[in-house]
Amino acid sequence: MLNRLLKLLSGKPQNKMSPPKIIPASNHGLRKAQFSPNALKVIDKLQEAGFSAFLVGGGVRDLLLKGQPKDFDVATNATPEETRKLFRNAMIIGRRFRIVHVRFGREIIEVTTFRAHHDQSVDPKDAEQSHTGMLLRDNVYGDIQSDAVRRDFSVNALYYDPSNGNLLDYTNGLEDLNRRVIQMIGDPEARYREDPVRMLRAIRFSAKLGFAMTDSTAEPIKRLASLMSHVPPARLFEEVLKLMLNGSATVTLELLREHGLFEALFPGTEQSLQKGSEFNMRFVTQAVLNTDKRIRQDKKVTPAFIYAAFLWPPLQAAIRKLVHDSKMPLVEAMQRAEQGVISQQLSCTALPKRFLIPMREIWALQLRLPRREGRKAFALLEHPRFRAAYDFLLLREQAGEQLDGLGVWWTQFQDANEEMREQMVKDLGSPQRQRRPRRRSTKSTPTPPATP
Ligand code: ATP
Ligand code: MG
Repeated sequence: MLNRLLKLLSGKPQNKMSPPKIIPASNHGLRKAQFSPNALKVIDKLQEAGFSAFLVGGGVRDLLLKGQPKDFDVATNATPEETRKLFRNAMIIGRRFRIVHVRFGREIIEVTTFRAHHDQSVDPKDAEQSHTGMLLRDNVYGDIQSDAVRRDFSVNALYYDPSNGNLLDYTNGLEDLNRRVIQMIGDPEARYREDPVRMLRAIRFSAKLGFAMTDSTAEPIKRLASLMSHVPPARLFEEVLKLMLNGSATVTLELLREHGLFEALFPGTEQSLQKGSEFNMRFVTQAVLNTDKRIRQDKKVTPAFIYAAFLWPPLQAAIRKLVHDSKMPLVEAMQRAEQGVISQQLSCTALPKRFLIPMREIWALQLRLPRREGRKAFALLEHPRFRAAYDFLLLREQAGEQLDGLGVWWTQFQDANEEMREQMVKDLGSPQRQRRPRRRSTKSTPTPPATP
């Protein structure tokens, strides 16, 4: 309060914003019918109740780019409580950043109240910052102008009013969209300090849209990458999913590494890529290429698989070290290495148990896939994680690991009928003769050929 008063007395303008550019429907090409009917319903209802409400963010941006929006975000001057009261199917979520989710079956419309700068806060519990300037609470409400400059990138700050078809542009977003650039609104360094996740968002949009970051948006990232350690691991896990599951993981990985951010998310992996063999690079690159391909084909991608792949090179390095330096038996070394690699990873990004367990199963099955004698191959086929483990095996081979045609064998085994399967197992050799190769394979399986 005192701050505000002092500012007013010193004659400093509180909000020296120029009016928006108003682009009529005839000039931007967006049509109301392109937006989600549910998002339009939410806006209608807010406007009928006397509030202003707009579509904003990715929905507007992606439609202007003739793309398919992932979701539709609504911005309004109604507070979260006022919004919630208008809808039966609404709930307020978040503490750091309170928003309202209005649910229509499987679709959720996110409704955000216009935000303002923190010096306009009257209540300290709405605005809280850490010693590095990070926003711990960002619930100071304002008007549409202040909201526009609190958004991250200019292309994300275009407001569409479905009631008259106008597009409101406070930040030169339309020009940046046409120039195909990602431009941070305001002073990039200050905005990254407020929320380091914006660095990941800059990379994500740049990769996904094929836009270049402007120099001023890109330059501070490497310098500020270490701020990522202040972001809660659970939030970073969510961001990793958005980065890796948007169909542009390959470019995203390159950009993350170029700007020093991959290390903040996967320190063990980054170290293996820098110091390790070429195999590591091929392996991780192939993993993201496969992920992008699966997404293009509308196939499921589980975070467990991505984490299993990213952590495989550091896991192998740790196993090798324990086996060679400490002469530890393989199975024990594997357990010990897993613990080390996982605990380092969990200090950076969370990995919920529902993914952690399958990730470890994918790894454990790599030891079992070579052992196919007797009924073992049949039993493995029934394992709930077999398919992911088989894909992982193929990935290892694709990256250049020599596994004596194990991938091909499993491909044929899956395609074969019962009789052929029996024969394939028989062809592996008699149990007596198998014992030796079994021991050999146990020893060599988890160790990739090239050592860092
Ligand atoms: P997509 O939904 O396709 O991933 P989006 O741009 O809609 O992209 P959301 O995370 O849905 O991204 O956020 C909606 C909008 O909210 C953004 O477009 C941006 O205007 C604003 N926004 C989101 N996160 C931040 C942030 N960390 N800092 C500032 N503004 C943000
Ligand atoms: Mg969105």
